[in-house]
Amino acid sequence: MLRVLKFGGTSVGTLERIQNVTEIVKKFRNQGDDIVVVVSAMSGETNKLIEYANHYSKTPNEKEMDMLLSSGERVTSALLSISLNEQGFEATSMSGREAGILTTSEHTSARIENIQTKNIKDAINDGKIIIVAGFQGVSTTNHRVTTLGRGGSDLTAVALAGALKADLCEIYTDVDGIYTTDPRLVPKAKKLEKISYDEMLELASLGAKVLQNRSVEMAKKLNVNLVSRSSFTPEIEGTLITKEENIMEKPIVSGIALDRNQVRIGMYGVIDKPGIASSIFTALADAKINVDMIVQTVGTNNTTNLDFTIPSSDLKKTKKVMADFKSDSKNIDYNDAICKVSIVGVGMKSHTGVASKAFSALANENINIRIISTSEIKISMIVDEKYAELAVRSLHDAYELEK
Ligand code: ASP
Ligand code: MG
Repeated sequence: MLRVLKFGGTSVGTLERIQNVTEIVKKFRNQGDDIVVVVSAMSGETNKLIEYANHYSKTPNEKEMDMLLSSGERVTSALLSISLNEQGFEATSMSGREAGILTTSEHTSARIENIQTKNIKDAINDGKIIIVAGFQGVSTTNHRVTTLGRGGSDLTAVALAGALKADLCEIYTDVDGIYTTDPRLVPKAKKLEKISYDEMLELASLGAKVLQNRSVEMAKKLNVNLVSRSSFTPEIEGTLITKEENIMEKPIVSGIALDRNQVRIGMYGVIDKPGIASSIFTALADAKINVDMIVQTVGTNNTTNLDFTIPSSDLKKTKKVMADFKSDSKNIDYNDAICKVSIVGVGMKSHTGVASKAFSALANENINIRIISTSEIKISMIVDEKYAELAVRSLHDAYELEK
């Protein structure tokens, strides 16, 4: 079988860690697998290079930044190859260009356009283990080296796995998989054996540190079987992220996500006439503000109340936009002492009573739900931030996710 193995920054963070990766690669090789490895830069390396550039300039040329930043991954790819060679394994490192990764020319945030797999396929046929420097490619227009944005090595791995039709793309970090919820909040949280792409994307706040969201989207598009596992405990199997059809027993609820970085904006006493919501949300969209939940309720005297949420990082921009709408309402209120708790599961589609169980669980704890929104596989609720942990714990209990 063909395996793509991707090792993140902490997995190659020291010379000893690279030695440890050598052992993992050797084990699969000795089973007879074909192997393409993708590596990140050693942890902290990319940040250090950015600091070096900032020593000279706050606005360094982006082509030069790509030349600089792509070097971190090249170092690890060569070191891992040298280490494998020394142990008698035929390995060869490749830069993004050598691996045939063709991108747009948006330097520092290029998108992969196409992968020419000839070099890699030839090397596989020659019996080599290929070690690709992640996070980089080459522009099809100006032919310079490009990088794919922070965390982009995951994308390299998924894109290669898709192009090579690999059987598996294993992403190694220092976390051994995806859990039913954050184990720091709920110690009895359980590691999931399998989860669908869509659930994974909805549970982003659980997996964000583990898998880059863009790479999960790409895995879904290219139908790549992804595994999240740890290079620190390689004996543990990890979590398979795959298409829904591959999951036989679909749990009604797979996990509980918590997002603390939300702000709730309330507009009270909005004049009730057509076009107000349209102009507000158009202005927010034009400012590239990511509005999440929206609720409109009836107020008094021909007015309505409009509530919506945004990520905390967009608060400044939002206040600026909302300044233009001051005269359209009596009062605009910003509340960042809230959080969003979400229940995610593909089995929800075919079951009733999932939402009522959540509401009862929170009611039993006397937690007031401020806003509710639902989709096919998700129920999200806004509650006061002081109840964040209690809400997650009581929901985890209500759906018996520890079982
Ligand atoms: N080294 C790059 C970064 O830190 C890419 C990666 O590790 O995925 O963003
Ligand atoms: Mg990463």
